[in-house]
Amino acid sequence: MSRIAFIGLGAMGLPMAANLSASGYEIAGFDCSASARDKAASQGLRLSDSMEQAAEDADAVVTMLQNGDQVLSVWEGMLGLAADALFIDCSTIDLASARRAHGLARARGALSVDAPVSGGVAGAQAGKLTFMCGAERDAFEKAEPILQSMGARIVHCGGPGLGQAAKICNNLMLGVAMAATAEAFTLAEQLGLSSQALFDVASVSSGQSWSLTSYCPVAGLTPDSPANRGYKAGFQTKLMLKDLRLAEMAAAGSGLETPMASAAARLYSEFESEGGGEDDFSGVIQAMRRR
Ligand code: NAD
Repeated sequence: MSRIAFIGLGAMGLPMAANLSASGYEIAGFDCSASARDKAASQGLRLSDSMEQAAEDADAVVTMLQNGDQVLSVWEGMLGLAADALFIDCSTIDLASARRAHGLARARGALSVDAPVSGGVAGAQAGKLTFMCGAERDAFEKAEPILQSMGARIVHCGGPGLGQAAKICNNLMLGVAMAATAEAFTLAEQLGLSSQALFDVASVSSGQSWSLTSYCPVAGLTPDSPANRGYKAGFQTKLMLKDLRLAEMAAAGSGLETPMASAAARLYSEFESEGGGEDDFSGVIQAMRRR
């Protein structure tokens, strides 16, 4: 397996494609945005002029796009051109679209994997992403070496769609935990308890979480926290909101309610409407302090 058509060369896709190229795969990259193509070309990535050209002789097609409609439209087009290829979607999309994409591939006899990621742009650049895969065993085994060139952990979560299910559930926990952590620090400030004192207690007590000890929403308490740089360059609030809405949709589709996800989504949505959509999601603490 050596030639990979990589469709979607945005913030995540470009460094992922660059890592595949550095591992010896022949890349045929394509993005519908001219500025994304220019950036990729300036970094030396091999580009195709169209999706059709990228599909020529492709052994695998990897997509890294914004939403389910984009993935379905690209897969529909590419499956008509390269049905022998292995199809891997790394985007975070709704479960119904992920299942439909697998159905399209199955109808053409193609192997397919949903493989959303965690680790953000820094993880993509460092080749240290975690991939959560939903696929039949034979498709997963074929995809694994490709994913290893872009990630540190490759987890087979189960059958088609279950990679997206894992991503949605993980980010539900993250979104709620961060909102709860920010709320606790806001309350502490109001009560006259210093952030340092709360951190010293909670980081070794039952309030501990990744949102507290690796990504604290208060500046100066953890070294790599976006709070230390004014909530810039992290995981954008609008993307967290997208993922919480995917959780709500997935829950509604299976007759379940997710009141925690809904409460967190309301808080991030308020922060977004105050101009925080592009800021890191831990910046939601600023909206809480203003209230
Ligand atoms: P992005 O908007 O930077 O990149 C997406 C790219 O897809 C864009 O360049 C766009 O032009 C291109 N595109 C859209 N439709 C296309 C089409 N039909 N043909 C060709 N190209 C097309 O987004 P991103 O930040 O790279 O995120 C990609 C996916 O990864 C999303 O689903 C996101 O939720 C998920 N994700 C992002 C992060 C992050 O930190 N950015 C982290 C984890 C997961």
